[in-house]
Amino acid sequence: MPPRVTLSFDNGPDPEITPKVLDILARRGILTTFFVVGDKLRDPARHAIVERAFRAGHWIGNHTFNHLAPLGVTLDRDAPALEISRTQTLIGDMSHPDRLFRPFGSGGILDEALLSPSAVDLLCRDGYSCVLWNVVPRDWENPKGWVPQALQQVAAEEWPLVVLHDLPTTAMDQLELFLDGLDAAGATIVQDFPKDCIPIVNGEIVADISAYMTSPAT
Ligand SMILES: [Zn+2]
Repeated sequence: MPPRVTLSFDNGPDPEITPKVLDILARRGILTTFFVVGDKLRDPARHAIVERAFRAGHWIGNHTFNHLAPLGVTLDRDAPALEISRTQTLIGDMSHPDRLFRPFGSGGILDEALLSPSAVDLLCRDGYSCVLWNVVPRDWENPKGWVPQALQQVAAEEWPLVVLHDLPTTAMDQLELFLDGLDAAGATIVQDFPKDCIPIVNGEIVADISAYMTSPAT
């Protein structure tokens, strides 16, 4: 088991599930990052839940506005502004100073559909940090049984950055079991991200991102 594990929760906030996740994390003294969907933040009740997460010390990241199509495959030329900038405005003062952005990857897959050249331009221009991942236990597919797979995937990474979903799939009913498993294996949960999961840092491309971006139009 690696010594450090980083957790993140994507696709919320959910009015029922996110508060429960926050309760569990608070009880255990764990800090994480919530990558939120902009469209959901327009609801004041959900916005208040993200405020609660922010006040508790969790980092708040941008996970697109609609979460419908990976930025690398959409034909909408306004998609970067609509998906990234609009969500960032809704996050407002709750934003992490590094302006964390996580692209929507269909099925959790890291491939060239994640970003388009124009999305990368916007991320660089506006000083975002692009936070990817290396562990996706697909909790949405197997909400009752994802924990063994998650622990196995975590054990295979040097510094795992785990993507979970605070969504009403019942998967978060197993969160404590997962955290118990990490505890039992002696892992410490940290809030920082492994560097090799962040190909863009504060608007600067620091790794080869060709694997995560569609080719520029010719
Ligand atoms: Zn997502």
